[in-house]
Amino acid sequence: MNKGDRIYVAGHRGLVGSAIVRRLETDGFDHLVLRTRSELDLRRQDQVDRFFEQERPDYVFLAAAKVGGIYANNAYPADFIRDNLLIQTHVIDAAHRAGVEKLLFLGSSCIYPKQAPQPMTEECLLTGPLEATNRPYALAKIAGLEMVRSYRRQFGFRGIAVMPTNLYGPHDNFDPETSHVLPALLRKIHEARAAGAAEVEVWGTGQPRREFLHVDDLADACVFLMQRYEGELALNVGVGDDVTIRELAELIAGVVGFEGKLRFDASKPDGTPRKLLDVSRLHALGWRARISLEKGVADTYEWFRRRAT
Ligand code: GDP
Repeated sequence: MNKGDRIYVAGHRGLVGSAIVRRLETDGFDHLVLRTRSELDLRRQDQVDRFFEQERPDYVFLAAAKVGGIYANNAYPADFIRDNLLIQTHVIDAAHRAGVEKLLFLGSSCIYPKQAPQPMTEECLLTGPLEATNRPYALAKIAGLEMVRSYRRQFGFRGIAVMPTNLYGPHDNFDPETSHVLPALLRKIHEARAAGAAEVEVWGTGQPRREFLHVDDLADACVFLMQRYEGELALNVGVGDDVTIRELAELIAGVVGFEGKLRFDASKPDGTPRKLLDVSRLHALGWRARISLEKGVADTYEWFRRRAT
């Protein structure tokens, strides 16, 4: 990637896309091609084709996707499978036909089997049943990985894919119903503190373990891999370490300064018991996450507070 290259970041308003844009701008890439959802509906093939013909980007970061937490995945399964299949199919195919130099597709760690041995290596893909709560989303993402690989094999298209673990950071979705656990708890605990509440409800038993990667670390990895990685295998991107939901809730309570009680509601689903990525391959390529969970949560809380007030 050269400074003069035209780089299309699909999904630049989202958590991942906005972090990639910040990272590219910091590095002096100033020919970014960006479109909001109302300017370009990626679910419409005619619009996507026209966009690629007109703009002819050299590089594409495909970070546009319909995403959400356990509740949203359960409530809107048709939206999750349809929108993601449409978006990725249109963008990958149009990029190939328009002669794009290289494309990076964002997968997700939820595509691995529910009972995959931990930490999960890249090889465990398609070795067992998926977690039911987000299977439509996971299957769409798996189709995207296979599509990138197939275009590489059949057309020599330089598509690569990365598999990020659970992400967090600025521009995340903080809606208490549809968001992922980290932003949901930041908001709930912030509001409980503001209201002087005695307790906060945390879904599930608190026992599931999750790994959390700051999105600025992911953006750094994406730019690194766009420049250095040419493999067929979708690479895991994570920190290599996880915490229980209880530990996460306690850490957030500490950052927010909430001194009340955490009440675990076991009637809410726990989801996958553990989701830790094996990041040996990424480490071997010379990349490591740098932002600690404490610092990352504190920074995200600062961003949330500035935005909320
Ligand atoms: P997952 O990683 O795909 O399972 O999705 P989530 O980030 O939504 O949930 C992760 C875990 O956090 C699950 O065990 C949830 O039950 C638990 N959790 C606890 N409190 C909350 C909350 O307020 N919102 C969400 N989304 N999850 C929560």
